[in-house]
Amino acid sequence: MDAIPLCSPNVGDPDGPEARNLLSCIASGYVSYAGTFVSEFEALIAAYTGARSAAATSAGTTALHLGLHVLGVRPGDLVIVPTLTFIASVNAISHCAATPWLLDVSRSDWNLDPELLAEALKTECRRERDGTTRHIVTGKRVAAIVPVYVLGLPADMDTICDIAETWGLPVLADAAAALGATYKGAGIGHTRANLSAISFNANKIITTGGGGILIGNDAALIARANHIATTARRAPAYDHDEIGFNYRMTNLEAAVGVGQMSRIDEFVSRKRAIAAVYAKAFAGIAGVERFPEGVWAQGNDWLSGVFLAHFAPECVAGLRATLAASSIQAPPFWKPAHLQTPYKDAPSTLTGVADDVWERILPLPCSTHLRTDQQARVVGCVGEFLKVSTDSPAKVR
Ligand SMILES: *Cc1c(COP(=O)(O)O)cnc(C)c1O
Repeated sequence: MDAIPLCSPNVGDPDGPEARNLLSCIASGYVSYAGTFVSEFEALIAAYTGARSAAATSAGTTALHLGLHVLGVRPGDLVIVPTLTFIASVNAISHCAATPWLLDVSRSDWNLDPELLAEALKTECRRERDGTTRHIVTGKRVAAIVPVYVLGLPADMDTICDIAETWGLPVLADAAAALGATYKGAGIGHTRANLSAISFNANKIITTGGGGILIGNDAALIARANHIATTARRAPAYDHDEIGFNYRMTNLEAAVGVGQMSRIDEFVSRKRAIAAVYAKAFAGIAGVERFPEGVWAQGNDWLSGVFLAHFAPECVAGLRATLAASSIQAPPFWKPAHLQTPYKDAPSTLTGVADDVWERILPLPCSTHLRTDQQARVVGCVGEFLKVSTDSPAKVR
């Protein structure tokens, strides 16, 4: 039995556009920060998402850190972020020497809960005369909001941006896995977020090996991000006008990215088809739900699988073990940040939804090159387990 990975990169064709571009990049000698693939890749992502400009970075994490930095997050600040996210969204806040304020997610889309956000700001903060939003108990300035597009589904951005405006806060969307999703019928560059960060790590919808990008509609802000990402150097002399980072994407990485972008439509439609097969296969089983679908947005189905809404966590673990025994990779999903060692004492406003999602979510294999027979094997294995489990009420909560 061949092993079925959760989500592996689709770059393997030695005659494919990724390999071709990579070889031409090597032949050109421009393998590092100079060369044409980086600007070509930035233009492709900007056009595809509908954003005005883009700055490619070494990783999604560095795009997030850079974004927070150029939006003015400074040491000692507080930044609002959902607790149900990959640790990088929270670490990027720490990299600014700021503190995350962890908020829970909404039951309907698993993204930052706008009602909770409005309520938390209203009850825990005050607006000072100079416009500063201050968290009363800690005395810290609230400096930004970082909504995360969990599972590639855009958050309720208009509502979140309305709240942000009321409190004078900039918004950096962590759209790491959301390339290919749409918001209100248009690309994710069309939201009112000041900036959005996308990742090109190997498990994302397209990959550059490692890499990221900041997109936005304020061309001057993106230009500033680019400047900071290249050591704040004023070319051509070694003149640096502020403290910068070395965060740019290399031409080698961008060469792969340009190749991957020529296949983005194929990847997104494969992801959606895989999610539809799982949804159909498990539709009739009580207590088994598909992942949230948007009202205002269409996700890219970056990850698909099942949410075992009415099952005990031990039962979910049992299913995971059964799949592992059949060489089917279905590892646990992101452990919420408030349960992570570095953030267990971070300020938080929790409702229990993130914990509930984490304990009962089961992402299933969804690589874009997953074969039909492989997915049938996954469906069979999960279906068999759930049939036995639903027959024994003790396993159901
Ligand atoms: C992948 C991911 C990141 C980090 O991106 P890297 O490129 O791995 O640094 C950040 N946030 C979320 C939500 C992610 O899924």
